[in-house]
Amino acid sequence: MIRERKSEKVPSSLLTTSQYDGEDVKAQLLEDQHEKCYICERKLGTDFEIEHLKSQENYSKLQQDWSNLFLACGYCNRKKSSSFDDNLCPLDTNIEDEIEQRIDFSRNKASFTTAINDAPHQNTVRMLHVFYNGKQKMRVIKEQRFFDEAKQKMNRFLEKVNTFLMEPTSANRALVADELSIEQEMLGFKYWVIRDNHLETEFKDEIVWNKH
Ligand SMILES: [Zn+2]
Repeated sequence: MIRERKSEKVPSSLLTTSQYDGEDVKAQLLEDQHEKCYICERKLGTDFEIEHLKSQENYSKLQQDWSNLFLACGYCNRKKSSSFDDNLCPLDTNIEDEIEQRIDFSRNKASFTTAINDAPHQNTVRMLHVFYNGKQKMRVIKEQRFFDEAKQKMNRFLEKVNTFLMEPTSANRALVADELSIEQEMLGFKYWVIRDNHLETEFKDEIVWNKH
């Protein structure tokens, strides 16, 4: 997860109808979020749903509030439902800085940690943990497939980073830089690979997504 940015202009159907899922809302969110789920950062294709940061069940007044609407994939939207209403808002938090996001290959787990002890940080960490590692001790099939996909993608990224570290040519640098473009998936995890390998200065121009 990373910081998100939303266009300042509110889609007109939110002002003129009682719907929250007008075509103009979906189109604007697709553009603003670079066609990715704001939680897992996978490309959305045709599998996207409007996700209420604060759920409709508990916050009916925010049902049509532009700042409360995001696009999520079906997996994340259904898993979140109304269980995580007190999450960080990605519009005003540099989530990639405040939540460390890593794949722990040796333990076959995703790990999420934060130094900040308030409820929104803790809840967001708890949500990510459940999505990637499962609700029970063992992942159910969907959770396992979700995790495996994330692991594969991060494996490919790590290979490119390692190649650049061994042979820092401009061609190898470009391969890593391309993976860090805002259109790409899993930037929150990639951010911590860059930091863990002390490459944040090298790629400082690439890792500023939505920050200004
Ligand atoms: Zn998702």
